[in-house]
Amino acid sequence: MRILLTNDDGILAPGLVALYRELVTLGQVSVAAPDTVQSASGHAITINTPLMVKKVHAHDAFHGWAVAGRPADCVKLAVGELLEHPPDLVVSGINDGANVGINVLYSGTVAAAAEGAILGFPSVAVSLEWGDEMNFDRAARIATRLIRSWLETGDRLPEGAGRLLNINVPSLTNGRPFGLRVASQAVDKADERYEHSQGPGGVSQYSLTGWHSGTGQPDTDLRALCDGYVVVTPLHFDLTERRRLGTLSACDWPDVTKA
Ligand code: MN
Repeated sequence: MRILLTNDDGILAPGLVALYRELVTLGQVSVAAPDTVQSASGHAITINTPLMVKKVHAHDAFHGWAVAGRPADCVKLAVGELLEHPPDLVVSGINDGANVGINVLYSGTVAAAAEGAILGFPSVAVSLEWGDEMNFDRAARIATRLIRSWLETGDRLPEGAGRLLNINVPSLTNGRPFGLRVASQAVDKADERYEHSQGPGGVSQYSLTGWHSGTGQPDTDLRALCDGYVVVTPLHFDLTERRRLGTLSACDWPDVTKA
């Protein structure tokens, strides 16, 4: 099996090399990842400047392509140009921090996996919740076992339907994880605010701070993570709210040809 591995924390991030070391038990792993930290870059891509690519040797573990671009760029470029063969699987992570709830929308980690799904490959995003110690090695073992099971027994969607999985591992202290849950994405607003300070030359500057104040609704990724469970969420990149197609079509729309 051919696996494309990427992330949003940069090609030298400890979460990526930990996942690399486990994924090689599943197949041949190629790495194309941003050359700098690209967290919270969402599904941005680079269109107005060329993408600079350098081959790097990281952590005495792998040779990979360091791309001066966004996580989604890495997947598009790797599949389109860099890889000799199309991958059988795209994996993004392990992110330094959970990607649950609405953070799924901001996440470069999830976006890279979504790009893999758009291109037609089974794709997985893996993230580890912040904690006192970040045990990426154990999180990588957990994620790789889940990926293996998913590929073997899998959810059998038709080819091209975009099989996209979001895996979050709780911080691995105090006996966690307590188990596995499959859950939907929480939609709670995060409890965030901007901290104001004076920057150089007296310029006002604002730093975003905060996280979810609650533990989310039952059966959501946020609740499962807060409860200390590994949580798996099936995602799709079709943002259409299908149940509103009918009511929206029935609206009394103006004749746009007359405007
Ligand atoms: Mn990140």
